[in-house]
Amino acid sequence: MAAAKKTGTMKKMGKGLKPSKIVKPKAAGKEATQKVAAWDDDPMSGALPVTRDLPDLSTAAMKVKITEAVPAPKVYAPGSREFRYWAAADALARGSQFWSSITGLKRWQPGDTLKVTLDAGAELNAYYDRVGLSFFHDTAGGKIVYSGESPDVVCHEMGHAVLDVLRPELWDVMSGEVAAFHESFGDMSAILIGLQLSGIRQQLTAGGSPFYQSSRLSRLAEQLGWALRQRRPDSAPPDCLRNAVNSFFYRAPDTLRPSGPDSELTSEPHSFSRVFTGGFYEALSNMLETIGGINDANLLEASDAMAHLLADAVQSASVVPEFYSQVAAHFLDADRRLYQGKYNEALKSAFVRRGILSLQSMVSEELSPAASTSRSTRGMVAPSPAANGLPTVKMSGNDFGMGGAAIVMYVPGETRKFGVSSAAPAMGAAPQPTDEQSARSFAEYLFRRGRVDLKDHGNPKMRVTHPYARKTHELIKRDGDVMLVRRNFDCGLD
Ligand SMILES: [Zn+2]
Repeated sequence: MAAAKKTGTMKKMGKGLKPSKIVKPKAAGKEATQKVAAWDDDPMSGALPVTRDLPDLSTAAMKVKITEAVPAPKVYAPGSREFRYWAAADALARGSQFWSSITGLKRWQPGDTLKVTLDAGAELNAYYDRVGLSFFHDTAGGKIVYSGESPDVVCHEMGHAVLDVLRPELWDVMSGEVAAFHESFGDMSAILIGLQLSGIRQQLTAGGSPFYQSSRLSRLAEQLGWALRQRRPDSAPPDCLRNAVNSFFYRAPDTLRPSGPDSELTSEPHSFSRVFTGGFYEALSNMLETIGGINDANLLEASDAMAHLLADAVQSASVVPEFYSQVAAHFLDADRRLYQGKYNEALKSAFVRRGILSLQSMVSEELSPAASTSRSTRGMVAPSPAANGLPTVKMSGNDFGMGGAAIVMYVPGETRKFGVSSAAPAMGAAPQPTDEQSARSFAEYLFRRGRVDLKDHGNPKMRVTHPYARKTHELIKRDGDVMLVRRNFDCGLD
């Protein structure tokens, strides 16, 4: 894979770093030589800015438009609005090019162009809301931090938008595991896009270090993690927001507490996402070993294969309470179809070591088809076309401190293709809730944590509105019912 024309870096540490091969000059001639400064991964990853060819967001297959005024293209110093603009534009261009080349997508869920707001106000936050991506700024530890300046954060948010095109059903479904997978996909997106940069690959291959260790690549959003720790010291590890090199083992989310320190696995989607991201990173490391170990070409080959497997698996996996294990089974299935099973050992070892797949899932040489289609217990309504084919269930508002009026929600009740399970901590398969229990558990998590905008629904004397908590979901009226639906994927401090 040919790298783009080499450009210089700003300072000595960047010497030898090449620009992204996928950032194309805007036009031939004079404009083609225009350069901007940007970050490879994060302002606090320890590296200096690099210079890159001027990114062009308007000609990408998956178009992106930044709402702020375009500064004159040139190499700005970090700390200026102009630098932040081009750092974000570069990350967006790299992300858009990467995912359109892997998936063949040409549009976003909101339409042909994804709108991006680089500074939507004062919060330590970033979100995707089916209109576009929004980033923020805020003061932490005496310093102003802009979430949109970090390529890790930008590529994470873009991951939400990409997955939303690939699997729109995941948007509204009430499932803790699905919500966590969406967060994991964001982090996997940042890691895979980062691996396309020769500067990051060079750092990973220098000095003979193993791939599977904490590194600039595995550490995500160092600066946002630092800022959140200034507010709440137990909210992130000492050196980033989340680390893909971790030791978390699968637990069914409805058996976990809804909040806790960073060191603990909780059912909060960002916390629980670390199980899948950890399995993914271990699988990527195993895939590298399969093709001969860590070097520049193998990093590119493994990341390309991993991205194709991931995109294939998420499009096929059944939306069920134990979503992680279904995605993992579809990884193995995709590997058989796309790579003749070349990565079978690499993948199943990683997923079994994490408990994402139980050993008992491997009962035959081929993955077993599911024995039953649904484990729902009662009250299931026929799938509605408006709900992407997912069934809905009606629950009493009393279950959520709202008074008796019914609330309708989408449940993870698709037909399973593979009869696989996640692992219990000691032995065997993890007991899984029914579709309805899973939905109820996640909905209760949302109501407890104040994530639902109740609007004027519910009994005003009973309901708990949590006016100071950020909202990811809302109650809306649809077809005469009150429905619980998603408003955004919110990626800041819970
Ligand atoms: Zn997120």
